[in-house]
Amino acid sequence: MPTFLGMPAFPQAAARAVRDERLRANLRRATHTIRDKRARAVAELEDWERLRAAGTAIKDHTLRHLDRYLVQLEEAVTAAGGTVHWAADAEEANRIVADLVRTTGEGEVVKVKSMATQEIGLNEALAAEGITAYETDLAELIVQLGEDRPSHILVPAIHRNRGEIREIFAERMAAWGRPAPEGLTDSPAELAEAARLHLREKFLRARVAVSGANFMVAETGTLVVVESEGNGRMCLTLPRTLISVVGIEKVVPTWRDLEVFLQLLPRSSTAERMNPYTSLWTGVSEGDGPSEFHLVLLDNGRTGILADEVGRQTLRCIRCSACLNVCPVYERAGGHAYGSVYPGPIGAVLTPQLRGTASPVDASLPYASSLCGACYEVCPVAIDIPEVLVHLREKVAEQGGHGHRLERAAMGAAGYVLDHPAVLAAAERLAGRTRALHPRRLPGPGRAWTDSRDLPEVPAEPFRDWWRRNRP
Ligand code: SF4
Repeated sequence: MPTFLGMPAFPQAAARAVRDERLRANLRRATHTIRDKRARAVAELEDWERLRAAGTAIKDHTLRHLDRYLVQLEEAVTAAGGTVHWAADAEEANRIVADLVRTTGEGEVVKVKSMATQEIGLNEALAAEGITAYETDLAELIVQLGEDRPSHILVPAIHRNRGEIREIFAERMAAWGRPAPEGLTDSPAELAEAARLHLREKFLRARVAVSGANFMVAETGTLVVVESEGNGRMCLTLPRTLISVVGIEKVVPTWRDLEVFLQLLPRSSTAERMNPYTSLWTGVSEGDGPSEFHLVLLDNGRTGILADEVGRQTLRCIRCSACLNVCPVYERAGGHAYGSVYPGPIGAVLTPQLRGTASPVDASLPYASSLCGACYEVCPVAIDIPEVLVHLREKVAEQGGHGHRLERAAMGAAGYVLDHPAVLAAAERLAGRTRALHPRRLPGPGRAWTDSRDLPEVPAEPFRDWWRRNRP
């Protein structure tokens, strides 16, 4: 499969995905529905742009003083009866969680949907230690039962339609616990009921839960999870031990700051005015919820991102997924093509910063965009994703590779010609005289570009010559 200059892995994966008609139809239907609902929910608020500016300012302020707020958070969580652990990378975070679960003597945990735990591969790491992690979010359950990978931040099974979900439930539920009811159809109500019955068993049995958090409040040590199904509330309140793995960028300074984000997030993500379930907890309280609480603060590349002046805005992200739903590339390629748990525009900038750009897939991600800017327009914390993409492309080009050497040589030659008017005029005349010999398609690595585009016709006479002859 030919690739455009310097683009290895994403184009190959995307090319496979765009040939899958069912996948494209599922994605188109789902992203357009969420996108339209979001636009209506946002339009209801006259002060949306001011809220957006406030959210951006709070995040920027917090990131500038991240060290101070994290220490304040640790003190507040500890004072409220929780225990804070610091994890430099995925391996350390997984080891901490596995040790904590083993100490309880349990062999299984229930999970609240969490991008951070997917990022570090927690379920796989726990399985290697003989601990089973049960996903309790409906879409995550579908992904887990189907031995699939998530393809959307908010709707991980967005690539599946109702018929496929019915098949997965009917065939796989029994291997994980309570089987699907006999004669299950693909009606949404029946599918939801099957999941509810299956999960209820898990909630009632679980002694340990693992969660992430949408926000952490430094001044009080409070953690916040927003969700739509109530499964999170069950996990956060029923088990004896709660372990929360949270990226260090999720801290906000004060309780008041939540007011801004609890308006921005639901409208941007599920297009709701407020989340059906907003759970907040501060350490432990006797007779109310878990009696043991552990917070694992995860770096895993985040401080490296913080050190990059252009890239650090990525850490403002509140994982609403609005950028995915408006992205023309995501809509056609789907989430799996991004080779990471973070798909879409945010994945194209976050993954190469978290993992570096050494591998072909990570080096290709900054190119997984048309730079149309739709992601920037909808982002509730105004992350200029196109700016970060171009910044990352520069880095990838600097690190070399065949395609990038050619691209750089072409740009260098163009720069020289455009900088020397006499050379430019001579080149234009030569191009005009030889126009009959011009190929319709570029040769070599540029060929993929002309597979779907026409090369512009070169005029017989350059504009400047025409102007000299015709000016009054
Ligand atoms: S980059 Fe912006 S729009 Fe995309 S998920 Fe993050 S906060 Fe939402």
